[in-house]
Amino acid sequence: MHKPLFTLLLLLFPLFAHAQTRTLDIYWVDVEGGAATLIVTPAGESILIDSGNPGGRDADRIYKAAQAAGLKRIDYLVTTHFHIDHYGGAAELSRKIPIGTIYDKGIPQVLQEDPKFAERIQEYRGIEAKRLMIGRGAEIKLKKARGAQPLKFQFVGADQQFIDASGKDPSTAGCDQVPDKPLDRSDNANSTVMLLQYGPFRFFNGADLTWNVEKTLVCPVNRLGEVDVFQVNHHGLDQSNHPLLVQALRPTVAVMGNGTTKGCGPQTTTTLKNTPSIQAVYQAHKNLREDSQYNTADAYIANLEADCDGNYIKMSVAPDGKNYTVSIPAKGHSQTYATRK
Ligand SMILES: [Zn+2]
Repeated sequence: MHKPLFTLLLLLFPLFAHAQTRTLDIYWVDVEGGAATLIVTPAGESILIDSGNPGGRDADRIYKAAQAAGLKRIDYLVTTHFHIDHYGGAAELSRKIPIGTIYDKGIPQVLQEDPKFAERIQEYRGIEAKRLMIGRGAEIKLKKARGAQPLKFQFVGADQQFIDASGKDPSTAGCDQVPDKPLDRSDNANSTVMLLQYGPFRFFNGADLTWNVEKTLVCPVNRLGEVDVFQVNHHGLDQSNHPLLVQALRPTVAVMGNGTTKGCGPQTTTTLKNTPSIQAVYQAHKNLREDSQYNTADAYIANLEADCDGNYIKMSVAPDGKNYTVSIPAKGHSQTYATRK
């Protein structure tokens, strides 16, 4: 080859290589039994689903993950429902990194399960950002990177009203065989449900949705379709994670945002264990309660001690969407899974 041309190509190669290696990334930040899921698209846009607790620790950890991802701002913050472990860190975070648009269900005047709500929500109300309501079936329009797969972030619904996001409606067997749980009047039951699709890859986030409402998503027909990765609902608490929902989603990987004593419930972990499609369960924290048998293997747990460094779990979906790698960078764990379809 012509030598100067060859040198030029050699110099340009890192640029091309970078352009080709953009992945869709998801960071599950350890917010100690709250929720904070940071999505970074191949075009570099970001969606943060929930913002952990107040007190500085969680905002710091989310900010660190944003820095690791090279973000200069959070383009979209989605607040799935109005419990403090889901919106509590937002105001502090907004003082560290700008937030473009905030999506939520509309701030209620009162919350019967939280007598301090009117006071607690003040800071969140004051965050300077564009404000939009979560619409049933609405999408967050995201930029498509050159050479990347089609990307779709959709609100399946909130406040117990959902669209059909599967398009196929296969019926679910055994809908009358699992008993309901007591009626949940809290805002958990009104949680926002989201699906992220990147080419063939699908990710489900149902926030803190609880048992009886979870069932309506898959009974009598599965309105969600199947997914590759399931963010375990409600930190793995047993008020949530209806076995028919988990089985209908047929996930390969499950990621649980539990705390040292919160979540990782016996019934939920048993459901995950009994779901044949699941190859791996990841946890933000080791369950340090007496019932410590309900833990995944240590290699799949981001933080083993109560006094921890707040390690995050990261997932990178390949540019063609055909496989994804889940890692715990602080521990050197990394495993690649094939996308189903
Ligand atoms: Zn929660």
